[in-house]
Amino acid sequence: MSELYTGTKFKYINKSKTFPEHKNLKLLKSWCDIFNRNKFAPPYPGGSSGNLSFRTKMNSNNFIITASHTSLSDAMKDSDFSEVVFCSVSKNIVHSKGIKAPSSETLMHYLIYKSRPDVNAIFHGHSAEIMKLAKQKTFPETKKELEYGTVELAEDVVNTLKNYNFVILKNHGFVSVGKTQNEVGNQIFEL
Ligand SMILES: [Zn+2]
Repeated sequence: MSELYTGTKFKYINKSKTFPEHKNLKLLKSWCDIFNRNKFAPPYPGGSSGNLSFRTKMNSNNFIITASHTSLSDAMKDSDFSEVVFCSVSKNIVHSKGIKAPSSETLMHYLIYKSRPDVNAIFHGHSAEIMKLAKQKTFPETKKELEYGTVELAEDVVNTLKNYNFVILKNHGFVSVGKTQNEVGNQIFEL
């Protein structure tokens, strides 16, 4: 990716300092570790270029996501995650629970959950190798290189995903979605 990470582009309102608690958080932590070990989300100083989330409740678009400026590792704490409980795309506002701000790509995750009720987990990474493999398998790719964290990018991804569970973000990375975290993670290894 050509641009430097400079933080979230939305206004973020912390609704509670309570750590997100959920029976599926442990599994998300293990997928974060797998992502790190397989270099799916290459590290930069102070973080990892990727973000992982799962829907916390059926029939809602709330989700637990890795926090902004957070390194994926085998030693992640509950405080390295945020629960997103409200998003307004038009006002560019995110409400969340937890100590840290949610990932800069929160609006992308939100718009995917909103448009795809069948999707309960979303993993995003920047591995060039995975992008290359996905291209060979002819998975769809977004048309333009767009700035990270923007609504424009999020909408482009949603449109490209439509009938797929895996897309390439042009000159940026990949997004894998599915019914369960294991389905989303395993399909990256099956490329
Ligand atoms: Zn990204």
